[in-house]
Amino acid sequence: MWQNIEAAPADSILGLTDAFKKDGNPEKVNLGVGVYKDDEGNTPVLSCVKEAEKILLASEKTKSYLPIPGDPGYGKNVQKLLFGEENEVINSGRAVTAHAPGGTGALRVGGDLLKKFYPDAKVWLSSPTWANHNAVFSAAGFELEQYAYYDAENRQLDFDGMTASLENIPGGDVVLLHTCCHNPSGVDPDREQWRRIAAISNEKGWIPFLDFAYQGFGESVEADRFAVEQFAALGGDFLVASSFSKNFGLYNERTGALTLICPTQKEAAVAFSHLKTTIRVLYSNPPAHGGLVAATILDRPELYSLWIEELGGMRERIRDMRRALVEGLVARGVEGDFSYIARQRGMFSFSGLSAEVVDWLRENKSIYVVGGGRINLAGLTSKNIGYVCDAIAEALQ
Ligand code: PMP
Repeated sequence: MWQNIEAAPADSILGLTDAFKKDGNPEKVNLGVGVYKDDEGNTPVLSCVKEAEKILLASEKTKSYLPIPGDPGYGKNVQKLLFGEENEVINSGRAVTAHAPGGTGALRVGGDLLKKFYPDAKVWLSSPTWANHNAVFSAAGFELEQYAYYDAENRQLDFDGMTASLENIPGGDVVLLHTCCHNPSGVDPDREQWRRIAAISNEKGWIPFLDFAYQGFGESVEADRFAVEQFAALGGDFLVASSFSKNFGLYNERTGALTLICPTQKEAAVAFSHLKTTIRVLYSNPPAHGGLVAATILDRPELYSLWIEELGGMRERIRDMRRALVEGLVARGVEGDFSYIARQRGMFSFSGLSAEVVDWLRENKSIYVVGGGRINLAGLTSKNIGYVCDAIAEALQ
């Protein structure tokens, strides 16, 4: 069957991790894949997760199937986290949520659902965006377009370009927006800019599809909701793909959610029925463990506080590494203004390193950076930061 078929290329980001694992250099550093690491270079299970797992282990009575949209308690908790406890969207019942296998699963379920009812819509992605967005929405059968986003020259948001693009997108098309901690640039719209983006969506009638993979990694769980709140306040339709992979460290439990927000409860019920039929043919019903862990933490004030503390620790460590990288490069006399690295948010930074430098770092120093120069700051530690700064300084000489 496969004799005359060429092998598919390795995934651009996960393939890099495979190469990293095979590298025998004891000083190797992985700044590629978007996984949080502590100062020891480990991706630990959060203590709040361990506590929740103890509770679940003691109380679990069955491994029977979950309902198609997952545990109802999970859906409620996802909504509380997305919108805040007393939000009109929740009280009116105009939002419905299904547990999806990770943020990726949520994006694909949303894509398949939209394709059924808006077969001629195009999906608009930011330029640049997370590589898998392109693959997920093409797999769902969509034609893709790009809207302006990152100004590489000035290393900031190209807001004029962005609004000019968004104003030209026809009603009925789908626009994917990163709500915070844009991957790969680390550059987000500010509050005023989000208000403007939401207003354009309202004027033009395109469908906002929000990708919310990093809640809590920007400023805080509450502040990072700002974009979601702006679209909720419009009272219209939008979708949110959210993920607990990063903020709960539940990467391999595939714990995400797709939330559909509609103008009325009646429309939400119709939307939910179609969401369920879409899921049924994709994976039937979701895996249970991660969702139960997240709901157990979000339901219990003491575990919630512990989570907020641990999430804050992750966010602060990444910020410290941003500062340390900027200071390290300045201290080595590397030419240029690197202060933008400290201003960017979330796990990633567009380092501005050229393709040649990225290759040189991998081949000569075993430092792995995604093509395009995206650096995962969480891959830096107090032990390897000096080595990385030396290597970059040498590469840029
Ligand atoms: N969206 C963005 C912007 C991401 O960066 C990621 C993870 N890299 C995802 C979605 C998918 O997250 P998950 O691992 O939960 O599928």
